[in-house]
Amino acid sequence: MSHSWRSEGQKRTVIWYYKPPDEVVQYLQDMQDAIRYTLQVAYLMATRDSGGRIHSPIALRRELGDWFYSRYDYARHHINPVCRTAVAMLKSYRKNHHELRIPEVKKLAMRFDAELFKLADGNIRVTLQPNNYTWIPINTMNKRYEEYSRGRPSELLITDRKVCLTFVVGKGTKPLGSKIIASDLNFNTVDSTKASLGSAPKLEAVKTESIKHIAQIQNDFSRRRRQVQLHIKNAQKRAKKLKETRGRQRNRIKDALHKLSTEQVKKNPDGTFIFEDLKGIRKNGKSKNKKLRTYLNRWPYRMYQSMVEYKSRNRTLFVSPGGTSSRCPVCGGKLKHPTWAMSRCNTCGVDYDRDRLASLAILCRALRLCGQPFAVSADASWQHMRDEYLHTPIKPNGGRADWTKNAVNAPNLNVYMKIHI
Ligand SMILES: [Zn+2]
Repeated sequence: MSHSWRSEGQKRTVIWYYKPPDEVVQYLQDMQDAIRYTLQVAYLMATRDSGGRIHSPIALRRELGDWFYSRYDYARHHINPVCRTAVAMLKSYRKNHHELRIPEVKKLAMRFDAELFKLADGNIRVTLQPNNYTWIPINTMNKRYEEYSRGRPSELLITDRKVCLTFVVGKGTKPLGSKIIASDLNFNTVDSTKASLGSAPKLEAVKTESIKHIAQIQNDFSRRRRQVQLHIKNAQKRAKKLKETRGRQRNRIKDALHKLSTEQVKKNPDGTFIFEDLKGIRKNGKSKNKKLRTYLNRWPYRMYQSMVEYKSRNRTLFVSPGGTSSRCPVCGGKLKHPTWAMSRCNTCGVDYDRDRLASLAILCRALRLCGQPFAVSADASWQHMRDEYLHTPIKPNGGRADWTKNAVNAPNLNVYMKIHI
């Protein structure tokens, strides 16, 4: 799953309601007419000349340029969004109705390319005619407007009721926080190690938070999907029902992830979050990281990371995944796993909690990336914290006991995971 949040330069839109000046209303009505006409031309070009293939906005502009320039005295650039809108409407109509027809243009709405507007002194200056500007006051209540407006304004959408202004916020513009929180995302828990940065990193806390409710939603829905597959014989009906179920599941998980990520970011306003970089793992079936390979459906983890990255005031770092449970971050020794939840280090001579130790490994990896290598075993803060990383049969608040029991009792872990995730 790709997400616009992840793309290079992320987009942020602020919206507010306004009363448009008369010339804007006139402009919107003219452009609505222009879009209607453009739709007809695009439809004819598609059906008459090219057997249903919808032409590109550029081909349309070539066809319609002279008409547009002679009919309207608006800046010539405005023909671009007119053509783009018409093409997008035709395509989406065909997608939704499985046939090509001219859709109705109901809304008064227009997009402006970046060259046709400018931000100045709390206003948007839009160019309707060449050298003739209209000013729209920026009236957003968005608390983060200050922050976003440091980005590049990329697009403006105005209707007769509201203004939507989009910025591209560059990557890496956020600062590093004074704390660093490394999280290991698991099926039932999020395990995090928190450390303060400063002259030298210092461990502060390790936490296990239950995300059982999210796993539960996944389980419920996969059961429901199996039911549908078994009991609805009509293929068309089945496909429809499955799609609905998937949609509902997505929404519920998304909702839960929003709550969780907001809570985490609020609790750690000065924190830089560290995650394993899960990008592309799905493609790499041979990944050595067994834990990740068995997570067939890991989009919630990716989505959670994206949400935190987007909500946090500070930069979020991603470290390479895999191997966080194979080497001991304390001494570098090889780890064994007598049970799923346990990481045994013979050099240290103790059994660690697998997930908590993994979060420490992620933290160490990130510190190395930041050029502050951290010698865990020699550190005083580790001496205080060590007990919290030791394996116990039942974790406080973690709810992992069930998971361990199930996983260990299941005849084959992979089979178990396939059924339940
Ligand atoms: Zn060790």
